[in-house]
Amino acid sequence: MTDHYAVTGNPIAHSRSPTIHTLFAAQTGQDLRYDALLAPFDGFATTVRDFAATGGRGMNVTVPFKEEAYRLATVLTPRAQAAGAVNTLSFEGADIRGDNTDGAGLVRDLVHNLGCPVEGRRVLLLGAGGAARGVIQPLLEHRPARLLIANRTAHKAAALAGVFPGTTACDLPALQESEMAFDIVINATSSGLSDEALPLSAGIFAAGALAYEMVYGKATPFLRLAAAAEVRGVDGLGMLVEQAAEAFFVWRGVRPDTGPVLRQLRPGSA
Ligand code: NDP
Repeated sequence: MTDHYAVTGNPIAHSRSPTIHTLFAAQTGQDLRYDALLAPFDGFATTVRDFAATGGRGMNVTVPFKEEAYRLATVLTPRAQAAGAVNTLSFEGADIRGDNTDGAGLVRDLVHNLGCPVEGRRVLLLGAGGAARGVIQPLLEHRPARLLIANRTAHKAAALAGVFPGTTACDLPALQESEMAFDIVINATSSGLSDEALPLSAGIFAAGALAYEMVYGKATPFLRLAAAAEVRGVDGLGMLVEQAAEAFFVWRGVRPDTGPVLRQLRPGSA
């Protein structure tokens, strides 16, 4: 029997998850169907419960429901607890198991795909929203020399630093004045979606740094800053594919080969 999965969010029509999971299923010979389901803003829990009631095996959750999914889950994995958000649900009897694969996806893209180890490196995380929070613990597990969280709204960065020992926090003007440079700079703000530039100069990048933009598929101001500083800049498509592969592994116990899928999705690549 074909197992049924879906991604839910609002909006959802743009989601690339159905394409990614369908490619994973074909590659690994798994018999499954994966759809996109629009959840009304006030109807996330109903959408999830209805899907489970009709035999659905699991769901991915995207904007703006990751925190609601965290509250809806009856069982949470340690990484979902650390993230305070859930992007992967599994229906196990009466239980709804909540997991978070975003951080694992980012770290795998950095270390495995991009050849950029985190250990011993100075890491700057821009942003203090759900995406930033989800990647902090997985980054810390790779023992960076330092992990600074910088956010437009200072108290949100400070709150995260309070939750995660081993991190420090500041606001964007203080970061700019500090003249500190970093080996890995991760833009986990949504500023790129609206083409807004962060108030930062090229000096935040150490020589040979990597600039990682979580937004994918566009030349954001952050990536343009990296290009001006002559450092390597990459978008978040690899993270998207890797978090999907981790979710696929959670559900099916099989780890797909992400390389061919990433190449197929990347415009202009072979
Ligand atoms: P949230 O809404 O939870 O957080 C948004 C963050 O961006 C906040 O820190 C906010 O700062 C900051 N921000 C927004 N606009 C600006 C601006 N103009 N200048 C400075 N800071 C700004 O969003 P998420 O954390 O869920 O997502 C962040 C981004 O990551 C999104 O663009 C999303 O698409 C992307 N993402 C990509 C993934 C992937 O797989 N590639 C996975 C998950 C997310 P403040 O607190 O001051 O408001």
